Amino acid sequence: MIQTIDQQWNNNAKFKQELLQQYIIIDTEIEIKPSENQFYEVFNCITSPKDTMPENFKKNFPKQFNSIMRDQNGWKMLYKELYVLIKQEIDYQKYGPPDQQGNQNNKEDETISSFNPYIITSIIQKVENNIKIKYNNQFAQYGLILTDVGERCIFYYSMLIIWRFLCYQRWNSKNIQQQHQNNYQTELIRCKAEINQDNQKQSCIKATELVSKIQTLLKKEFLDRTKKEVLQQKNQVSMSSADLISKLDKELLIDTFKKKILSYTTDHKSFINQYTFDMLKQVQDKLLTDYSNKYKKELSLYLQSIQQNAKIFFKYIKNQQKEVKTIKYFVEDAKQQDKIFYENYLFRLLIQCLLGKIEDKIDIIEKQYTEIFQVSNYNPVNYQLKINLQLLNQQDQQVYNLKSFVETLIEEINLILKNIDQIQFKQAEYQLDVEFGKLKLQMNGCEYTCPCCKRKCDEDNDNDSNHIHKCQNGHQIRGINGILISHNSPSLFTCEEILDQCILITLETNLQKTWKEVKKAHSNWNFKNIYDAKNNENKEKWEKVWNIGLGRLICLHLEKQLNHQIILSQKSSFEIYISNIHYILILDDSGSMQGEKWDNAKNGALHCIKSLENADSAKVSVIIFNGDARIVVECQKPNYSQISSCISYKGGNTAFDPPFKMALQLIEKHKGFNKIQILFYTDGEAGYPQATIDQFFQLPPQIRSRISLTACSGEKSSHSLQQMIEKFSQHMQLAQLKNSVQPMEIQKVWTEVVSKNIHSQLV
Ligand SMILES: [Zn+2]
Ligand SMILES: [Zn+2]
Ligand SMILES: [Zn+2]
Repeated sequence: MIQTIDQQWNNNAKFKQELLQQYIIIDTEIEIKPSENQFYEVFNCITSPKDTMPENFKKNFPKQFNSIMRDQNGWKMLYKELYVLIKQEIDYQKYGPPDQQGNQNNKEDETISSFNPYIITSIIQKVENNIKIKYNNQFAQYGLILTDVGERCIFYYSMLIIWRFLCYQRWNSKNIQQQHQNNYQTELIRCKAEINQDNQKQSCIKATELVSKIQTLLKKEFLDRTKKEVLQQKNQVSMSSADLISKLDKELLIDTFKKKILSYTTDHKSFINQYTFDMLKQVQDKLLTDYSNKYKKELSLYLQSIQQNAKIFFKYIKNQQKEVKTIKYFVEDAKQQDKIFYENYLFRLLIQCLLGKIEDKIDIIEKQYTEIFQVSNYNPVNYQLKINLQLLNQQDQQVYNLKSFVETLIEEINLILKNIDQIQFKQAEYQLDVEFGKLKLQMNGCEYTCPCCKRKCDEDNDNDSNHIHKCQNGHQIRGINGILISHNSPSLFTCEEILDQCILITLETNLQKTWKEVKKAHSNWNFKNIYDAKNNENKEKWEKVWNIGLGRLICLHLEKQLNHQIILSQKSSFEIYISNIHYILILDDSGSMQGEKWDNAKNGALHCIKSLENADSAKVSVIIFNGDARIVVECQKPNYSQISSCISYKGGNTAFDPPFKMALQLIEKHKGFNKIQILFYTDGEAGYPQATIDQFFQLPPQIRSRISLTACSGEKSSHSLQQMIEKFSQHMQLAQLKNSVQPMEIQKVWTEVVSKNIHSQLV
């Protein structure tokens, strides 16, 4: 590449030189672009990772990656994503989930009194999850991982953002409070009345204020009295995350089959998050409505009976042409105190009439007025709602003009009764928002999902540093998380079912690792319940639900995601699965194979058969071919000595069509295998057997999805085999070509395929 660039550059320079000679060029600009060669090496390391990273990759690439992230705004995107996540969580907690159009219903709650510690815990958990799982998985695809410092940078950034949001909320609620204090209009009227000494107007204002204060006190009294009860009822729905998942498993996986099962399984965590929120919201809304209604009823009864007394009271004074001044109600010789004393006294006497309860003597009242203040004329008000007048300010307990005061009082109560339906408690009034956050956090539990099957951890979220992630209700089938055992069939095993020696291909690096190694890498996860009975129960649960319809939904879901066909197979018990494989061994005995080569090839095949002797239900067929082909062993139990006598040399040309035709016959004749493994060896080249290969693709997809082909060739490259492998890869489960395989090596290559089959069936 460098050379061609240099060449081009030289040509370019030469061309310009020529131009310069021909015409007059005033200015030329030389632009040197850096060679991109340095990236090829790292690119190779990323696309085909090896067990050990080259030294200079380790040394240079992290720096390069960082500058790429910077130049391409990668870091900005990452931080932006976290910002959006935090904003969503805070909005969500305040307003609930966005509506269908994605809009938040932004009604500003006036009663944000304090921040909710549970929101912060829940956000921090989500951020941590993003860092540890999401980002590190993405970085791992480039062979990198965040350092401690890197993780901390992102974490502290998130803390800062949370803090800023909380500050903003505080600032906002302060603004609202100020708005209330600056209730200019009322203040102005009051001021004017006071300056003008307008007793009548002042009385009206005082009466209005009294009613509104009574209402505030009553509400507070009601909330205090019922708060414990409401919290208790709310807590009745409380359960641990494990119990919640157990309940949902029963509803969605066991009892009846519902469409919801797709989102419940493919995005378990989000489903639980949403479910918890909806459920708590529903319970809370119901409680708020119920208790608002209770309050409305009590309030209405209370105010009505006060109003009734007020009306009786008003009858005595409504005929006053000119309002009697406060002081005139009292006997002459009592008039030794100041004005305020009498105004207060009159107020207390009025209240005892309204409540129908004797507190103060009326012997200092002028005789002509005593009838008005006879408590026995009024109905006692006895309701659960009780108003403590001591909570009122001294200046609120004044009556200037009795008639105006009572008249306004009656009107104001009417106004409240008229609008009583509009009363609705808000969650903050019971401080339910804190309780809500606490329950939500508890029921959501741990935010981590299984790296293998994507089911959510259901261990309690106890902030314990020794927390081991678990799926106590069982892990799910790994195919749900898009894990395939070949190009087109989902893995049907739950995490519990995989055996330690199974080989997995890790998503991040494309490296092959045993399950044991994978588990080691996720040491903070527990992939298996200690009780076998539980594991079996879980296996049965998934087997049933997969087979009745989940499997079909998941395959459709994966097809859409991966954009190619996914073949559904039923999950069956483990015993049938194991080693129920048909091995078709195809050996070349053409002239070129004669002698030591044939002996080595035969030994290799026999060795491979020997390794199958312990696999209970494996069957073996052997086809030998040259210009023609013959089946020497047909679907037999692997038996070394018996099969050994059947394999003998003949000699001839080489043609690929006859052996594949026979393999096809065998496949069509012997059915019921979970896998058909063709092992093919030739030392030469022959034409591409188009017609027979095409027939293979007409097999039903359920059978095709079980066929794997491993072809070995002694040649450095083989055009027709290459073509065959490409076709097989598209239509069959798996196909691979190994070139330059000497007959000596057959034993190693084939035995490896066979042993991998035995183990990887479980994957
Ligand atoms: Zn799992
Ligand atoms: Zn956990
Ligand atoms: Zn040959």
